[in-house]
Amino acid sequence: MKCRFCGTRLDDTHVDGDTAARGKESQIFLDLGTAPPSNAFLTREELAAPETWFPLKLYTCPTCLLVQVDEVQSHAAIFSPDYVYFSSYSRSWLAHAEHYVNTVVRRLGLSTDSLVVEIASNDGYLLQYVSGCGIPCIGIEPTASTAQAARERGIETISEFFGQRFAQDFVASRRKADLIVANNVLAHVPDLNDFVSGLATALAPQGTVTIEFPHLQQLVAQRQFDTVYHEHFSYFSLHTVRTVFATHGLRIWDVEQLPTHGGSLRIWASHDTSHHQNTNAVTAVLAEERAAGMLELDYYRGFQTQADEVKDGLLLFLLEQRRLGCKVIGYGAAAKGNTLLNYAGVRPDLLPYVVDASPHKQGRYLPGSRIPVVAEQQLRTDRPNIVLILPWNLREEITSQLAYIREWGGRFATAVPHMVIS
Ligand SMILES: [Zn+2]
Repeated sequence: MKCRFCGTRLDDTHVDGDTAARGKESQIFLDLGTAPPSNAFLTREELAAPETWFPLKLYTCPTCLLVQVDEVQSHAAIFSPDYVYFSSYSRSWLAHAEHYVNTVVRRLGLSTDSLVVEIASNDGYLLQYVSGCGIPCIGIEPTASTAQAARERGIETISEFFGQRFAQDFVASRRKADLIVANNVLAHVPDLNDFVSGLATALAPQGTVTIEFPHLQQLVAQRQFDTVYHEHFSYFSLHTVRTVFATHGLRIWDVEQLPTHGGSLRIWASHDTSHHQNTNAVTAVLAEERAAGMLELDYYRGFQTQADEVKDGLLLFLLEQRRLGCKVIGYGAAAKGNTLLNYAGVRPDLLPYVVDASPHKQGRYLPGSRIPVVAEQQLRTDRPNIVLILPWNLREEITSQLAYIREWGGRFATAVPHMVIS
């Protein structure tokens, strides 16, 4: 395979069964074996059929240090058409979006003469606040069901994938954007160069792009290997993303460190020639990355061991609780939980069910592990000893929401970065 940014050839030097081969030459960042698509929840009928498991292996490009997933046979199978995820369902994410819009409108001086474009605008969760300020905006969202939901709340939405060709058509038929927003989409882009060059094409001369993505430095430091799944093609440091943007004539002039998704970066970028001055934050984050060792390949080679320690910790915990006769159940049927459970080989004998608030997931089964997803009522009836919170980034929110389990002496657990029971 070749690096999806710089084209450097990436070799699979790992010899099957020989961990010693993961030596000096290895470009493997993480090998999770095989896994089914993490959002392919199963219906009761589908339990009778086999599932397709795809290899899930990440490489580090030795040239540009982009961490990336191996090419997968069938993208179509992974992006299942009935996959439904409505952003507006999460209250904390809505608050995050509203706060961002208030900040960016002030900082960039956006007005009724400006144009805001959001890529992967989902159901209009963010643009509703832009529109609320009277600022013209357009969403780009390829998923038909979510695009329709956005239109129903009055947000103009184009159902297409963003890239260079789209950007050219857009600029020809409309105008260049003063602000382009793309949150948690960069990792999902199969053709990175096409996407970023499209940003440059669609952006006004003094316009700004802001992009949020999980920070690779946090992923490694917090051992968040469960955020790795097939739908995520790339994992970024500021160093690497800065190189990618510079190649397409875009300069990152500010960066913020956010707590979302276990630690994200929000970059602010404009054309090279724009008047925006670089802030000290850019220099500071680049220096932090260098100090952490992110410019050396050894940094990336050590991650498999970290992931294996998390997996072993979870298994030891679950086996011990079963031996003690304690009932452990899961909470939060999120994609990251599926990566963790499938890599650890957890099945319903160790985790009989997972509670989730989304009616779209209740009554279904987790892909791979085939653990049933149930409504919260079951937890109240069953009174389990321990609730294992799978989306660890929401630990605080979920702990306060389910505080009533303390009434029967229930406790909460999270497995990443290491087992914590409280
Ligand atoms: Zn590369």
